[in-house]
Amino acid sequence: MLKALEIAGFKSFADRTRFDFPDGITVVVGPNGSGKSNIVDAIKWVLGSQSAKSLRGKEMADVIFKGSQSRGPAGSAEATIVFDNSEGNLPIEAPEVHVTRRVFRSGEGEYLINNQPCRLKDIKSLIAGTGIGIDAYSLIEQGKVDRMLQANAKDRRVIFEEAAGISRFKAKKVEAERRLARVDQNLVRLGDIVDEVA
Ligand code: ATP
Repeated sequence: MLKALEIAGFKSFADRTRFDFPDGITVVVGPNGSGKSNIVDAIKWVLGSQSAKSLRGKEMADVIFKGSQSRGPAGSAEATIVFDNSEGNLPIEAPEVHVTRRVFRSGEGEYLINNQPCRLKDIKSLIAGTGIGIDAYSLIEQGKVDRMLQANAKDRRVIFEEAAGISRFKAKKVEAERRLARVDQNLVRLGDIVDEVA
């Protein structure tokens, strides 16, 4: 379902670079320090990673290309993940879904879904239940297999619920319950007003 990744000004990738992930397994090879892990960092970053440390930096602006001997630093970093949605797995009516994150040196940033500005929350709810999220199981990093095997039953259940697509509905249920509580409060307030007026 992950079709491509496009990055520009992100870590060691100063120029706009596109990685296509055709069906099957993609292997990224290269010498130490050539930027292999930066590709995974870009995917985590688009999916909303908020911690600079998890992206192996000190602060968020560290993801912006900081310049090299031959060229100056970039003013912004951006990454776009392209999902193939021809089977309609994502709840958006488009054959391809582009999810973009951009950050400027000023610290300002934005998220976009198919070029429309959105909140991180929208991206999270878009991919919930697909197994793609930063805390999900698609990105398996060093040590994660061990952690999964050693996880207690409750934590392991969370992984299976994500795989089964249940977590999307759980998140919706929480949201609906929150809305219901708000409606209840409004009803009480309305009752008070009616009492006052009557
Ligand atoms: P290894 O096999 O050693 O893990 P790797 O191929 O995974 O290496 P990465 O860790 O992805 O390499 O890349 C690290 C490189 O990215 C370093 O050379 C580092 O200088 C560069 N880099 C990281 N952040 C930036 C930045 N903001 N601007 C420019 N270069 C950066």
